[in-house]
Amino acid sequence: MRSYSSRKRILVTGGAGFLGSHLCERLIARGDSVLCVDNFFTGTKDNLAPLLTNPHFELVRHDVTFPLYVEVDEIYNLACPASPIHYQYDPVQTTKTSVHGAINMLGLAKRVKAKILQASTSEVYGDPKVHPQTEGYWGHVNPIGFRSCYDEGKRCAETLFFDYRRQHGLRIKVARIFNTYGPRMHPNDGRVVSNFIVQALAGEPITIYGEGSQTRSFCYVDDLIDGFLKLMDTPDDFTGPVNLGNPNEFTIRQLAEQVIKLTGSNSKLEFKPLPSDDPLQRQPDISLAKEKLDWAPSIRLEQGLVKTIDYFRKMLDSAVTGTL
Ligand code: NAD
Ligand code: UDP
Repeated sequence: MRSYSSRKRILVTGGAGFLGSHLCERLIARGDSVLCVDNFFTGTKDNLAPLLTNPHFELVRHDVTFPLYVEVDEIYNLACPASPIHYQYDPVQTTKTSVHGAINMLGLAKRVKAKILQASTSEVYGDPKVHPQTEGYWGHVNPIGFRSCYDEGKRCAETLFFDYRRQHGLRIKVARIFNTYGPRMHPNDGRVVSNFIVQALAGEPITIYGEGSQTRSFCYVDDLIDGFLKLMDTPDDFTGPVNLGNPNEFTIRQLAEQVIKLTGSNSKLEFKPLPSDDPLQRQPDISLAKEKLDWAPSIRLEQGLVKTIDYFRKMLDSAVTGTL
């Protein structure tokens, strides 16, 4: 726990979402003072319920596409819908959130001399031609497709971060996050882990897009938040971008089979068309994170899935009994 004098004032944008709520919880637990701003597009107050009565936690409804005037020491910029169905719902707003949001938060960081961390994404590599992906790879991204609002928005945000550093000397950190899962994922956000678990628990068919041979590497949320905190604490001359993710790669079909096994479900596999621009493979090279952050994920997929299944089981049970 920090003492009164060392308590930092930390802004978390998108703090009511999946990753943001876990981050706020960890920052409060270690004794920091947290200001969470969110427009509640995909996040909810429920995700922050245990923090709402904490005197060191403040929640403000705010859209990061508009300027924000507050006094803080550090900023974690997470505001942006992350699941394809959510970011494709209003693609113009998605690009604005990434680009105008970055400009506003960088402007704030410049004014108050705060250190700022950007939640970037493995999507900056697009459908990669280099495998596993290292930070030096520039990517293979369609600039005009359905995923572009997200991919190009995040790429432009990275550009802005580096230009603010070169032009204004800002202290920046850029994390490229690979698929992360865990409790508090939105049950209807269409992401593969939440979809498969909810379908398995309901005994519905598990929807595999394509043949299920595409791969992803899944990181449990607690590991990812450790990486965020370590990255923010690196010396000022380390900016990233740095990959944060679990290098253990699985096919989507393997994930479906694992979820069926762990839930004890009778669900069958149902094959559906592959969405356009869906990356065929994705696996982070985390050598840089190991070297600079002394970080590597420690939670195996099976362990993380058990915790996530437990969360969704309770959520679905309370929805049935009306206690939700
Ligand atoms: P999420 O959708 O649960 O959280 C995003 C939060 O941002 C939500 O609370 C939402 O209401 C808020 N938000 C959206 N637009 C906003 C705006 N204009 N102003 C203020 N708040 C806004 O998603 P998540 O999985 O928690 O992702 C958090 C961040 O991490 C995102 O920036 C995402 O791109 C990045 N990321 C996540 C993953 C992952 O696997 N979870 C992977 C790569 C990158
Ligand atoms: N996917 C799937 N069934 C689903 C949801 C997703 O087969 O019900 C696939 C999707 O086509 C992609 C992978 O799972 O190949 C990961 O999808 P997600 O939306 O979770 O993340 P992203 O594609 O952004 O990595």
